[in-house]
Amino acid sequence: MKILAVHADYIEYQATKKALKSAEANIKEEMERVEECLVIFTSVEKRDEGHREIVLEQYQQEVDKVADQVKPKNIVVYPYAHLSSSLASPQYAEEFLKAAEKKLSVKYNVYRAPFGWYKAFTIKSKGHPLSELSREFGQGENIPSVNKASPAENTPASTNLKRESKDELFEINNKDLSVEEKINLTAALLTGAAIQELFVEAKIGSIGFYHNQTYVDITGVKIKSDDLERIQKHALKLAQKGTSIEKVVAPTHELQKQIAQDLKKDAYTYQLSKVECVPTYANPFIANTKEIGALKLLSLSSAYWKNNASNLQLIRINLVGFRTQEELEKFQKEKEDQENRSHIKIGKEQGLFIISELVGPGLPLIAPKGMIIRNEITSYLWSLHKDKGYQQVWTPHIAKTELYKTSGHWDKFGDELFKVKGKTDDFVMKPMNCPHHMQIFDAFNHSYRDMPIRFFEPATIYRDEKSGQLTGLSRVRAITQDDGHLFCRTSQIKQEVKTIVGIIHEFYATLGMDKDYWVSLSVRGDDKSKYLGEDAAWNLAETSLEEAAIENKLPYKRIPGEAAFYGPKLDFMFKDALGREWQLATIQCDFNLPERFNLSYMNEEGKKERPVVIHRAISGSLERFLSILIEHHAGKFPLWLSPVQVKIVTVTDRNVPFARDLKDALQKHGIRVEVNEDQETIGKKVRDAQMEKVNYIVTIGDKEMEKNCLAIRTRAGDVKFEVNIADFIKDLRTEIDTKKN
Ligand SMILES: [Zn+2]
Repeated sequence: MKILAVHADYIEYQATKKALKSAEANIKEEMERVEECLVIFTSVEKRDEGHREIVLEQYQQEVDKVADQVKPKNIVVYPYAHLSSSLASPQYAEEFLKAAEKKLSVKYNVYRAPFGWYKAFTIKSKGHPLSELSREFGQGENIPSVNKASPAENTPASTNLKRESKDELFEINNKDLSVEEKINLTAALLTGAAIQELFVEAKIGSIGFYHNQTYVDITGVKIKSDDLERIQKHALKLAQKGTSIEKVVAPTHELQKQIAQDLKKDAYTYQLSKVECVPTYANPFIANTKEIGALKLLSLSSAYWKNNASNLQLIRINLVGFRTQEELEKFQKEKEDQENRSHIKIGKEQGLFIISELVGPGLPLIAPKGMIIRNEITSYLWSLHKDKGYQQVWTPHIAKTELYKTSGHWDKFGDELFKVKGKTDDFVMKPMNCPHHMQIFDAFNHSYRDMPIRFFEPATIYRDEKSGQLTGLSRVRAITQDDGHLFCRTSQIKQEVKTIVGIIHEFYATLGMDKDYWVSLSVRGDDKSKYLGEDAAWNLAETSLEEAAIENKLPYKRIPGEAAFYGPKLDFMFKDALGREWQLATIQCDFNLPERFNLSYMNEEGKKERPVVIHRAISGSLERFLSILIEHHAGKFPLWLSPVQVKIVTVTDRNVPFARDLKDALQKHGIRVEVNEDQETIGKKVRDAQMEKVNYIVTIGDKEMEKNCLAIRTRAGDVKFEVNIADFIKDLRTEIDTKKN
């Protein structure tokens, strides 16, 4: 779902001409004029289909958010197809818009522009910061484009929850398909035809796209993963023969008849070899199947007929088609690259962390090698803070419920809180560290001369995230924040923010992640009444954040209305090697918690004054950060982070004592080193070390012992002989100490 909300003095619109055959009937044809309105230009998208109630709810929330701030007299729901290139079927979109109109009418005075018509319109936008906002939301996003062959994983959680025993009707999609999409649908039909030739009992259900993947549904036979290769070959053979796709009068098989029934006048039956199909797209196939030069069946899963769990269960085959073998190879290379970078896969291969069924989902255990990386990160973080006035603190993992009732987190986190019953008191696992730090500040007397007070604590917090959403290290229930809280005077905000921005800069530059990022400066919207704290303090905090952003040349965007109710913030959005965006570092001013905990310090006149709190995190959470780090580097860590920096491999047993001495020498200089003394060939030992992605492989044979020197192979495959041991150690130390990327 994509919307564009415009707060306007007025809008005038008039239907001019039908854009769709199925355009809404019985509409008002004269000009409509609506004054003082919030116009919601709306594109209902393909991915919204099947999630109507959820998306309607989100739609209402988005409208509420804007309307709460701009307080319009009227709302105009305005169908506007040009926000998206992947529209829902007209029938679905029209029904959705009508339902949205009805839902919003409970609270607002609602107008709706006609659906499926070209419309002339004039709008006078108010032009204030909140008057034009675009939003994207819905259910389809974040579903991985490559699914594993498991029905449970193939079903997004939301459809799982709302799967009812109600049939979803087939609907025609009139969008103009791209050549690639037509090739994919043709490949799906070819696959269906191949199956029907190979397994006489087989029949196909529907073909189409689901979360960017092409599928064909099959019934009447059992198909195993072993069969895919054979089916794939046969489908390609049918394509290469130039088998034609014919239009025929009407379907004969029951499932295709049902599709035709739903589609009514839009139903056309196609036949390829022995398979017949009523597609739900207009003009879905390429003219000549010979154009398909490659085809790959990706996975097997299952689907219910008409998405209704009480209906027939079909086998779903996901596939892709291409014009050439080269295109397929490129696709496979990209897919492989993504899979090879998966932090879950690398984590397992390198023994970095463990997910134990017995411990529970979302509660990863960090193994020794993973802990080396994590410790390097936390100690680097501390080294960036310790000379800037920060002090380390420690706080327990549980606290009495009263603490969080005072802080407001009790209400905010609701059923995400893990509750702990003590003998006499009720506790919660902490969902935030802030309230604990407030208590430390409050326990001491502070004068203005002591300010700012800065606390630093990498600490684990606990949130009961839905189990369906937990993956590896990136979505967990035990989240370790590299947390910090500063207590300062309003006049000190700017300097403190500058220091934090400097730390963030240095940290991400060191990791080579400072090339592609942007910063969101979230400030107040127009309606100042919904924010806590005094106007002057807010202005100062917003200006301080902005000035710090300018002085540090941050690529920032000012986003009005996005501030938290308790204060403005800077959020740092970074991109990883796969181009995915993550919000990691954050700096947030807070006028609320000091108020709730009644914090104070003595000012120059001996009077109590309220401090401002600044929350800040540099890496975000150590778990998620580690997952990004692993995927960003594809497991090839820079030397200072590597769990095993040097691997020594011996040629014969004669070389073992020399190798062990070398290991001791390297360890003395703080270098992480392992020796492989196994009775394997040198070739195998080198290959194993390469698989482990260690930075340097040192080979020790008789020649090296004789000359007291080393043969060194880098991870990139460069080999150097007769390297002096002291020089090698010196070079390693420099590379580690400078945290070379
Ligand atoms: Zn905090």
